Amino acid sequence: MSRRKRIAVLGAGIMGCSVALRLARRGVAVTLVDAAPGPFSAASRWNEGKIHLGYMYSADPGLRTAAHMIEGGLWFRPLVEEMLDCSLEPVISTGDDIYLCHRDSVVDAPAMEAYLHRVSDLVRSHPAAVRYLVDVSRTGAERLQPGELAEVSGAGEILAGFRVPERSVQTRWVADRFTAAVAAEDALEMLTNTRVLAVEPTGGSLQGPWKVSTADGVLGPFSHVVNALWEGRPVIDRTVGLEPVPPWTHRYRLALFLRTRLPVSGPCAVIATGPFGDVKNYNGRDFYLSWYPAGLVAEGSGLEPPAITAESLPAEKDLAAEVFRQLGALVPWTQSLPAATESFEVAGGWVFAGGKGKLSDPSATLHQRWRYGIERHDTYLSVDTGKYSTAPWMARELVDSLTG
Ligand SMILES: Cc1cc2nc3c(=O)[nH]c(=O)nc-3n(C[C@H](O)[C@H](O)[C@H](O)COP(=O)(O)OP(=O)(O)OC[C@H]3O[C@@H](n4cnc5c(N)ncnc54)[C@H](O)[C@@H]3O)c2cc1C
Repeated sequence: MSRRKRIAVLGAGIMGCSVALRLARRGVAVTLVDAAPGPFSAASRWNEGKIHLGYMYSADPGLRTAAHMIEGGLWFRPLVEEMLDCSLEPVISTGDDIYLCHRDSVVDAPAMEAYLHRVSDLVRSHPAAVRYLVDVSRTGAERLQPGELAEVSGAGEILAGFRVPERSVQTRWVADRFTAAVAAEDALEMLTNTRVLAVEPTGGSLQGPWKVSTADGVLGPFSHVVNALWEGRPVIDRTVGLEPVPPWTHRYRLALFLRTRLPVSGPCAVIATGPFGDVKNYNGRDFYLSWYPAGLVAEGSGLEPPAITAESLPAEKDLAAEVFRQLGALVPWTQSLPAATESFEVAGGWVFAGGKGKLSDPSATLHQRWRYGIERHDTYLSVDTGKYSTAPWMARELVDSLTG
């Protein structure tokens, strides 16, 4: 690719920043545009950082979702470490996840167990299994014995438990490192506080060159545009003349990011499968806690995400109390967290998902999460990140396809 090419990357979350860094390091001039005051201000900062291997998606027993997640999940660590030039080791959660099968789960315990074993086979047989956050080439899902289950979960509502070799990273740490890497890259121009309104080809065809209209004026011309705007992506695709293909759902979700004064022990636990919640214990002092119905503040399937008003946001202390109450009943060790809390933030972001329906409905297409990826239309590329965990891998694919 010629050095004279200039590429506009729209959206400075994990996808846009990964694409922009890779392009810049291949000598391409890049303009990275975001409406927020800085990179990584939205979902890519405020998520729980589970680096998915597909275990979560037992309601898609055909393994299509799992297969989609595994490749990106296994490559997350080496690709991010390469981009940030530092090790992720200090921010990887220290224990395996425990999946707890709720009695109202859309998948019953025997089916969940069979699914988890099939995912383990897929993961173990992958040549990159040693590259995951921890080596997963010789481990797999294991059913908890009754005594082990009783130690982790409250009686009654949890029917079975499984130890699953899935880990997470602390996303705020990763966000700060990405922000510094973007700022340090000479070939990368970062435009913050700049809302994108439309993208138009100056030549009248998808070959470009392109103009990007923003609330502050027109940018360009650019030889290529990469739309990585996540919740804002479909509306900009339409300005190019590309009709987004339904179904999709926008959901705005909040969770608790909490730090304790002293270490608290207890495993990471996911209540599966449906509209429940989870707790992530990263290192004994930093925690993520969510209860899905309490944290879901907006949901819609229009071209644009639904508006979030001050009235639709719960009071932080009410949300925290509800999360503690619900998780405390199902995962009793979390009952010690409120008294041990040093500080907490309620934060979150948009989840844009190909699919529709309620998580409590086993037939909802929202349980299938394989309909995402890169759409290339000549010199205009639109990328649905799908997951934080798959973004670095998709960014590499995208940049390879652009630079040969
Ligand atoms: C509570 C929660 C928990 C989650 N947990 C996980 C998890 O454990 N594991 C996992 O893999 N994924 C998880 N996700 C999903 C994950 O966060 C997203 O898939 C990922 O962060 C999306 O990255 P992105 O770069 O596409 O989007 P973002 O990080 O949202 O970046 C998009 C950027 O585009 C900007 N933007 C949007 N519209 C415009 C516009 N018109 N003009 C200018 N800028 C605009 C926004 O300001 C934003 O900075 C979770 C999400 C949430 C909300």
